[in-house]
Amino acid sequence: MDLLIKGGKVVTAKSTFKADVAVTNGKISAIGTNLKPEAGTEVVDAKGKLVLPGAIDGHTHMAMPFGGTISTDDYFTGTRAAACGGTTTIINFETQPVGVKMSKFLKEKLELAESQGPAVDYSIHMGVGDVTTQEMLDDMAKVVDMGVTSFKVFMVYDFGVDDGQFYATLCKAKEIGALVGVHAENKNVNDYLVKKYLSEKKISPWYHYMSKNEAVAGEADERAINLAKMAGAPLYIVHLDNAQGVAAVAKARAEGYPIFAETCPQYLYFTKEVYKDGRPEFKLRPQDFVCSPPMKGKESKDALWDGIRNGVISTLSTDHCPFLKKEKDWGKKTKDGKKGNFTTIPNGCAGVENMYPFILSEANKGKITFNKAVEIAATNQAKLFGMDYCKGAIEVGLDADIVVYDPKKRVVINNKKNQHGALDHTVWEGVECKGYPCAVFSHGKLVFDGKDFVGKQGAGSFVKQKKVHHKGPSF
Ligand SMILES: [Zn+2]
Repeated sequence: MDLLIKGGKVVTAKSTFKADVAVTNGKISAIGTNLKPEAGTEVVDAKGKLVLPGAIDGHTHMAMPFGGTISTDDYFTGTRAAACGGTTTIINFETQPVGVKMSKFLKEKLELAESQGPAVDYSIHMGVGDVTTQEMLDDMAKVVDMGVTSFKVFMVYDFGVDDGQFYATLCKAKEIGALVGVHAENKNVNDYLVKKYLSEKKISPWYHYMSKNEAVAGEADERAINLAKMAGAPLYIVHLDNAQGVAAVAKARAEGYPIFAETCPQYLYFTKEVYKDGRPEFKLRPQDFVCSPPMKGKESKDALWDGIRNGVISTLSTDHCPFLKKEKDWGKKTKDGKKGNFTTIPNGCAGVENMYPFILSEANKGKITFNKAVEIAATNQAKLFGMDYCKGAIEVGLDADIVVYDPKKRVVINNKKNQHGALDHTVWEGVECKGYPCAVFSHGKLVFDGKDFVGKQGAGSFVKQKKVHHKGPSF
């Protein structure tokens, strides 16, 4: 026994109980009362603390090219930040370029990730950028064999799929034991609104929201669900942000379909008002909140919280995709010195370090249970993406990715003082967390001591996803 976490309260998705947790060779080796340390066992006193599985952030964009730049965090700085917020696994999106086979592209990206040296474990979702030929589509099976069983299609953007390609991808995924995620927004209406607002000289970040409003997302959520039903395939809606979409997911699940949805902390905390004023008390401007999809109105925010409480929403992830303040200013003046507008702002915000502290803080305040927080931030992610053989719970035999959480600790997010990513600001600045991780372990090794990153660059490795065959709405 290498490590013994003693006297804490273990929280799983289903229950909460007092127990000691023992770790041997990086795995959880025993859970029980009055476990005794051996000679050389490191003992951590967890009295008064919660002992939780490390979170899995199923939606990050590290080292991602977008809008003429690359997201600020790479596989190392991004996972360092993750570790310091209790997230011990990330699943990063890599999107296939047009004309390049997914399997070839994945190999390159795995090499890139290894070269940057992730601090904690990572996996990859394959973004679908080209399924215009049967050969490209058939290559998905190779990607599954390489340990990536989750794909994501985009209903917007130039490289996005049309409904036929989306349908074909769903059918293929079902056949090969994969899950298709979708970024659901109505492309044609979005494009039309962008043109209209620009022609009317409406160029501020507010029109980023207006052109990607609730209805633009909600219609696409419904259509995506219909396509999944037609294909008889499971579907995962990423970053669900609107009430219409929540209702559509709820209905499909009640009918027995394997339809799953993810939301993100930003949609649970902010509303569209940030695109008018920003948060000036923290020197945050409207453009700093430009992410895709944008925050929505209060009605949608409330519906998302209800969706979490009643099980309609399965997971919480961040869509972490940070860009520097000067890049966010490209909405005023572009990189090339031209007059900018809301479409020339790189899309994305930071969040990978904030997800678990945020949702646990909300649990600590009584908004949801701690069990629910663990379920959506860790356990369900592992089950959905075929990683529950090693991740997502405090269980004997699983990786010792463990968070010791102090419900009494208070942390006010301060990018300069207590955040560990590479970005020069965070939209979470000034947000108070009631409770915070005081120790985070990855494979039984301390990576966060409550203040600093104490892990190692390159300590993390690629987590293979098993094939998945989700048949209904529950696991
Ligand atoms: Zn994303």
